[in-house]
Amino acid sequence: MSKKLIVAIDGPAGSGKSTSAKLVAQQLGYLYVDSGAMYRAVTFLAIRKNVLNNNVEIIKLAEETEIDLKFADGKTYVFTNGENITDYIRSAAVNENVSIVSKIYGVRKPLVEKQKAMSNINCGIVMEGRDISTVVFPNADVKIFLTASIEKRAERRVKEYNEKGIGVDVNEIKQNISQRDKLDTTRELSPLLKAKDAIEIDTSKVTIEEQVEKILKIVKETADKRNNKKKL
Ligand code: C5P
Repeated sequence: MSKKLIVAIDGPAGSGKSTSAKLVAQQLGYLYVDSGAMYRAVTFLAIRKNVLNNNVEIIKLAEETEIDLKFADGKTYVFTNGENITDYIRSAAVNENVSIVSKIYGVRKPLVEKQKAMSNINCGIVMEGRDISTVVFPNADVKIFLTASIEKRAERRVKEYNEKGIGVDVNEIKQNISQRDKLDTTRELSPLLKAKDAIEIDTSKVTIEEQVEKILKIVKETADKRNNKKKL
């Protein structure tokens, strides 16, 4: 499998995007990018600066902050202007506000530019988010759209928090996920939707291993097709 591909994985919160995208990237030796971490970073900075009600200031943060994502030991570390903010971007306050911040055109524009630029590397890339197949990489080689029932998605989030030693209420999590789904799918700009040419996988009833296998199979078949075309 010599051709390095762009693999776009979209889906709502808790659909299994991060888990499978990380494993797929690891297996392929590709760069893994969690685009949601960038929207979370801007949201955290806006909360800390107390400018959530000021779009001009939020846009300034998105435009002027140097956001770096570093993936190590199975985790995405987020740095803004060199400061490690990894531990703060998954707080309840960020969860509540991130979909509001990510609706803003002036926020999306610089972040999407940065995401596009990340493919200019000498290796394949697996990027996950909401608009990767539709806006960031509309010509991605592989487009995957993950779904799962709201119950299953909430259950996964609760488990993730519990594993970190954080107790959470399943109903609160469900409510937050539903609210984000609504905002993310109905927003005017880059809403969460399945690209026409994306392959949908319902992860409600499959194991992580099965999800990853399915995606890897699709990537390998696509790479083989591309390589054969080159030879012809
Ligand atoms: O993927 P994650 O749940 O961490 O994303 C947090 C939020 O960031 C989403 O609910 C969505 O509002 C926003 N987002 C986005 N576009 C992306 C990735 C995330 O608007 N490509």
